[in-house]
Amino acid sequence: MQSTHSGELPSVTLQTHLSPALAAAFDLKGFTDALQVASEKLHELLARQDVAGVVLEPPQALVAEARALMSANADEPFDVHRFGQILDLYIRTGIRVNSTGYMARQFSSVIPISAVFDLVSAMAPQPASYYEAGQLANVADKIMAEEFGKLLGWQSGEFDMVTTSGASLANLTAVLAARNHHLGDSWQQGVGITSRGRPAIAIGSDAHFSVSRLAGIIGIGQDQVVRLPLNARRQICASQAASVLDQAKARGLDVFCIVASAGSTAIGAIDPLEELAILARARGAWLHVDAAHNGAFLVSDHLRPRLRGLEMADSFCLDAHKTLFVPALCTLLFYRSTGLAEAVFPVPASYVAEPSEEEMNRFQSGMKNFECTKRPAILNLWLVWALFGRSVFEEKLDHLVELTQSTKVYLDGLPDFEVMHQPESNILCFVHRPANWSGPGLNRLQVALRDSIRAEGRHLISMVDLDGTTVLRLVLMNHCILISDVIELVHAIRRHTKLILTEWDKVEALAGSEDNNMPPQMEIER
Ligand SMILES: *Cc1c(COP(=O)(O)O)cnc(C)c1O
Repeated sequence: MQSTHSGELPSVTLQTHLSPALAAAFDLKGFTDALQVASEKLHELLARQDVAGVVLEPPQALVAEARALMSANADEPFDVHRFGQILDLYIRTGIRVNSTGYMARQFSSVIPISAVFDLVSAMAPQPASYYEAGQLANVADKIMAEEFGKLLGWQSGEFDMVTTSGASLANLTAVLAARNHHLGDSWQQGVGITSRGRPAIAIGSDAHFSVSRLAGIIGIGQDQVVRLPLNARRQICASQAASVLDQAKARGLDVFCIVASAGSTAIGAIDPLEELAILARARGAWLHVDAAHNGAFLVSDHLRPRLRGLEMADSFCLDAHKTLFVPALCTLLFYRSTGLAEAVFPVPASYVAEPSEEEMNRFQSGMKNFECTKRPAILNLWLVWALFGRSVFEEKLDHLVELTQSTKVYLDGLPDFEVMHQPESNILCFVHRPANWSGPGLNRLQVALRDSIRAEGRHLISMVDLDGTTVLRLVLMNHCILISDVIELVHAIRRHTKLILTEWDKVEALAGSEDNNMPPQMEIER
């Protein structure tokens, strides 16, 4: 810094008071008032017993409504009433994961205490990438890793775990680790053809989209993705996989990583992990398991055996924000051996890892993950584990998987429902084919059903395409759902089908008589 001459202070205007807006934004009274309002509204939301899915607003109408709430006036004190209105709008437009009508996707009804802690950790942050900033966060990483290690049968100190913001990022990180491990100089020199061939990865045909686009991201190119065929249960077929990999090799591809799923997004299928681990090992390839959905089975004594072979994977991830019911995002990425995680991002930064602080460096994840600033999401998981123990997760998961099985048995007994698979988790896909209806357009009917049910706002279900067949999909994430709720959904499906078919008949009749191509408009009774 340049020195000014003889004792003179540089001329700056010192602010003597805060602007009203700045003062209001940080006002402690405003904060506690806001907490009170939020607490009341959340209490009301959680206590509600109504069956609800989502209220879909036309985007432009919602823009207008949101805009109407933006009247920032620098001279106004904090307006707790408007804060409440914004919360109301937020809650009204959200998916109702705490309702028994929400059966659509993998978004979870979270354990409420963990959400309270999420607020605390936002206000009193422990950004989790390095030890000085996030001491308890980094310690919680290690403790949770140890707990899961025990469940896997892994030895303490011999494996590694980092948390990431989502399984999409975890899958990317793991496959980058595999690339750097296999193609030692690719970090520095880029990815090129080697004496072993053109670098490639192999994935199941039902892999999540975060997996199917990885090749483009890590620089090996989407043309170098080998698709492994599925068996009748939509798992990777291990015996066919071997010959597909042989053919890939013959084409000059060097498959250095196989990505399996434990819980495919579509139907929750678990690939044969043990066979694939043996296959990968025999070929010198890395096995990564995208266990975003079903990795949580580890916490359940009853369900854990379904993950047999997971302990043989080189890496796998699981989403605690899905099937461990803590706020998003919280993903755990495991490496079977220590040292693998460091290979992902090999360039150390002196401000993250000070050489003099070796012990702290060992605890921090900064050099092993993509993120710099990172929410200490692991603390939400650790907190619940500390307060309630593993069994709270176990009981909820066991219940959901059992309920899904009961739903399958129930639907199997109905002549107008066809279940597509034996459920392996809490996901179930089926087709509704009304009695005495044999027309084409079964796919179209499923889409119309999903739309019509969603528009009514009581239930929310999803749909998925399985090799050209559109199927309806339930993901049961809320332990308050009972089989009676499923039966109610079935009644709703039949009721909506009648309305849809009546409407279609009318449109057809109109088209026949007047050649009128009006799109079908549906009014659903509420
Ligand atoms: C949800 C999911 C993902 C993506 O995880 P995010 O946490 O949403 O990024 C990846 N793979 C599978 C199998 C999933 O179910």
